[in-house]
Formats: sequence, structure tokens, C-alpha cells
Amino acid sequence: MHYYKNENFFGFYIKEVDSVDTDHFFGGNEIINGAFCPNCERLLTPLFTIKVTDEIRGIMKFIPESLEIIPLFYCWTCDLFEENEIVFYYSVGPNCVKYLKVPKGKKVDGWPYKNYPPFFERIGVELIKYSRKEYQVYIDVCTGKFNWLDVINENMIIFSDNTILNNPCFIDNKGHLKTIKCPICCKPMKYLGKFGDSLKMQNKFIGNSSPVMVFHFCEVCCTVGTYHYID
Ligand SMILES: [Zn+2]
Ligand SMILES: [Zn+2]
Repeated sequence: MHYYKNENFFGFYIKEVDSVDTDHFFGGNEIINGAFCPNCERLLTPLFTIKVTDEIRGIMKFIPESLEIIPLFYCWTCDLFEENEIVFYYSVGPNCVKYLKVPKGKKVDGWPYKNYPPFFERIGVELIKYSRKEYQVYIDVCTGKFNWLDVINENMIIFSDNTILNNPCFIDNKGHLKTIKCPICCKPMKYLGKFGDSLKMQNKFIGNSSPVMVFHFCEVCCTVGTYHYID
């Protein structure tokens, strides 16, 4: 699995805050040119927006100067949900996205629930860095020294369903993550992050706590690859 490695950097977990005026955020209703689903023809639903700050540039060394945000989208209103782990690719440019490879599907009425909104309310977040100590706890869980329940009960680590730019071995003890290639340059795409449906939104993005959304990124071509798996 390819991921962003920097010395003394172990990734971020995403913490919701009261302010909506933050660099990175969940939801929001900004319309980005081209961001509609070619299967069900509705706008793609923004899940999370990463602002390409100096801190993010320090981790993604090859990201173009012109790219200000990385919008992470998905479509839950067509039947792509029936096929776990199918990858949907798009490329990101300044205020536009373009499809590269989209699996075929069709609109399903009332899925994932009735009156699924076109957008979700914007929720501001902070990105909090994992410490070396927390990283070690993860490693110890992965190697069987601790079990998750003890780790959570004893507050040894902040447990988050939503993390970015971390080592994917943190989350993939069941082997769900894929190694995928960028459809433009054919190089392996790096793991970008994953999101569950745990937000304090009034309506839920997925409407079910089992699926996990995963995103990979090619910073040279600005390609996003996304899929979901059922945990
Ligand atoms: Zn769709
Ligand atoms: Zn590429």
C-alpha cells in the first residue's frame, strides 16, 4: 500500500468544531463544474474538502501550485452501492472536476433514504496530528499486543472514523484497502484517507454506519480514486 510518509508525521484525525469557517470541512454546497454523476445525473455530493494549505503541501510534495482544494465526492443515489469496492475516478482542477472512469449504474428511487439532500450542511473541522505515542498504540493493536476495546476504554488514543494522510495499516486489519493505479499516469495512487458516517449532521451522508468511504490520490495528475467497503 502506497501512502504519504514524512518523518515524524503519522497522519491526522478529523475533529469537528463549532465554527464553519475552517480551512477543511465536511459537506457544504459549493458547486464545482463537472461534478455531477454520469449515472443518475444529479450533482455529486461533497463529502469532505481538503484545502491545500502549506502544511498539506509539505506532505504532498508534488501537488501543483494551482490546486487550492481537493474536493472529495461520492454518489449514493445510484446503485453503485450494490458493488462494494468498485473504484470511481475523477481528476481535480482549479474549480472543476472531470470523470476518468465511472462504473455503470442507475438511479434508485428513495436510496439511501427518502428525500436524500443534494448537499449537506457545512461542518468545520480541525486536523489533529497523531503523536508518536498514539502511532505506537496503533502498531501495538495491529500486532495484537493490545485489543481495541482496551485501547478505547482506557482512552489510549482518540478513536476517529475520519482520518487523512495516515498510514493505512492503522485501519486495514481486514484487508479491505485496494492498491489502485492512476488512470492517467498508471502509477500506484497513494492512500489519502477514509470516512465513516459518524458525523453530527442532521441527515447522514450514507445513512448507515457500516460503509466506509476510501479515497486515494495521485498528486502529479490530481486524480482521485474512491470506493467504499462494508466494515
Ligand atoms: Zn449517481
Ligand atoms: Zn497520475
